[in-house]
Amino acid sequence: MKKAGIIRCQLTEDKCPGTNDFRVAANGQKAFESIGNCEVIGFISCGGCPGTKVGNRVQLLEAKGAEVIAISSCITQGSPFKETCHNWDKMKIEIENHINENTILLDYTH
Ligand code: SF4
Repeated sequence: MKKAGIIRCQLTEDKCPGTNDFRVAANGQKAFESIGNCEVIGFISCGGCPGTKVGNRVQLLEAKGAEVIAISSCITQGSPFKETCHNWDKMKIEIENHINENTILLDYTH
């Protein structure tokens, strides 16, 4: 079983506890289907707009054992809000500049 760290939008924290993210990771569903059941070892926000802290947070999750980094659907799919992150393009570059080459990156969760 792989270990996964999930990064979520800080703006959704008052609306969503991430229940579906934990469920799909544990059950190997949706974005996790090709990886199988995962143990979530960390669930952390992007650090707030404009998302410049996200690279360090990827490394923090990797330091705790994450082999998979999943970007929660609140960021890239507009769930539960109907709007996606307006900083996603920059955040993606920041993530790609910091992520370990062996770490699997999932750009959504469910
Ligand atoms: S940078 Fe994007 S993901 Fe992070 S709090 Fe702002 S809108 Fe949400």
